[in-house]
Amino acid sequence: MHELGLCDAMLRMVRGIMKEQEIEEIQRITVEVGTLSGVVPAYMEDCWVAVTDGTELEQTEFVVETLQGTAQCMDCDEVFPADFEHLSCPACGGHKLTPLTGRDLTLKEILIP
Ligand SMILES: [Zn+2]
Repeated sequence: MHELGLCDAMLRMVRGIMKEQEIEEIQRITVEVGTLSGVVPAYMEDCWVAVTDGTELEQTEFVVETLQGTAQCMDCDEVFPADFEHLSCPACGGHKLTPLTGRDLTLKEILIP
């Protein structure tokens, strides 16, 4: 479960931004998780609660949005929406795939009250 490490990194990134921009309070943080990133949104939310417990970001709302990833089949060149749990080509059933989008975890928005 690498979500904890990711949340920890996210917290450090947010704190860096807060310091740089002299922000004292954050109302909401939105992150975007690609379906091919291997990150489970529900775990991400749980881990965020764990890493921010007792900190200045404890009350901050944490929103995880899912971005549909796409992959291309190396056998038949089909491009299709893909997620981590369903990694086979819908056209030929092949498993040799190249991920095109959706591999990232991004900090999308910080909302300041
Ligand atoms: Zn295929």
